[in-house]
Amino acid sequence: MREPRRVLRTSSCPLLGRLGTLLSVCAGGYSLLREQYVSASCLVPTQVFKEHGILYATPYDHEVRVKLGSIMGQRIGDAIRKAQEARKLDEDAEIPGIFNSISPGWWLQQLDSGGVRVERCAWQHLEFEQIDADYVVKEGDRARLMIHVHERAAPDVEIPIVYEDRQFLAISKPAGVDITANPSCGSVRLSVIGMLEAMGYSNVYPAHRIDKPVSGVLCFGKNKKALSRLMRCIRNRKVQKTYLARTLGGPEEDGLRILEPLDVVQDKLTMKSVAVASATGKRAESVVEKVLARHEDGTATLAVRILTGRYHQVRCHLQQAGWPIANDPTYGGVPQLGQEIFNGTRARQMIQEYQYPGCKSCEYFQDVVSGEEPPPRLDPTIWLHSWHYDFPTLGLSFEAPPPDWAGMS
Ligand SMILES: [Zn+2]
Repeated sequence: MREPRRVLRTSSCPLLGRLGTLLSVCAGGYSLLREQYVSASCLVPTQVFKEHGILYATPYDHEVRVKLGSIMGQRIGDAIRKAQEARKLDEDAEIPGIFNSISPGWWLQQLDSGGVRVERCAWQHLEFEQIDADYVVKEGDRARLMIHVHERAAPDVEIPIVYEDRQFLAISKPAGVDITANPSCGSVRLSVIGMLEAMGYSNVYPAHRIDKPVSGVLCFGKNKKALSRLMRCIRNRKVQKTYLARTLGGPEEDGLRILEPLDVVQDKLTMKSVAVASATGKRAESVVEKVLARHEDGTATLAVRILTGRYHQVRCHLQQAGWPIANDPTYGGVPQLGQEIFNGTRARQMIQEYQYPGCKSCEYFQDVVSGEEPPPRLDPTIWLHSWHYDFPTLGLSFEAPPPDWAGMS
């Protein structure tokens, strides 16, 4: 084993940084990195353009952190070549997790050019050691290397501001857009935070989450103090939240209470977290306050108030009650396809212009252009809308106008 070539020090340990929702942008978002990572540097995309109602951002380079546990004790170059050989023999061969999103070829290229560093947390600082293919992986090692980021395309939609004063901001989040695409990277252009930044709101902090496929009220603090006031209200249940949902069927009477305790499990097929009703789960309470509209196709628009804030609470509770959200396949609804993307000349031209050899996503998009792969689609959205957020103790009340599907106008 060679001696370390170089050891760098930083004054603070980014491991202590907060990690939120990750990975929707990494290496195309189409092959997800399972490892957690934080950024060291990020070149935010300079170009955003729209085509056929879709927003695209040009790819850019971003440094990621990858846990090397799956190849501990091995010479990193050997592990990479072994994976390369295995994939040559069998495309579906199981290879270590470090190649989930970064191809073996890309690893080798980065090692050759001195672009891979191993980081270690020492007393109050991080140490970095530049490594090459001969490096033997030690326990707890994390590598840092650059990846080529392809942000997920997003629907070209406005972000309406529904409330603003010196402390607080509330918007109506469009369905199908992430709040933060990659928090480690700061704002990324095609997320709510990135779009708000482009509108001139550069220092706003979301006080809660709404799932990507869901639309509606999203509250922000304009400074840390305002943020903590909102978050304290949410934590102490001093907030009234009402959602709109369009469901398959609906109750005959108003005011129905749903009290199924909820747990979160990982779906074995999709590896995504899902809520399940479970006697040992956490207390959860929703009230179907009113049937606001009944539609010809047998669906109904319901106003649902939630008294707890469990993961996927409205979606799971409505399914439990027998009226699943009509287009939410995760919880008993009928699946719908998102809009096709990368079918315009400009988007296809971008793929040719911003290619990076060894990037798996670039290879994938090449196959889309050549017709070997079908065009990808936007993530589907669902008929669930965060309608009202009221903070009585702060004297604040936010409303996001009902979407067209609610049929209320
Ligand atoms: Zn690429």
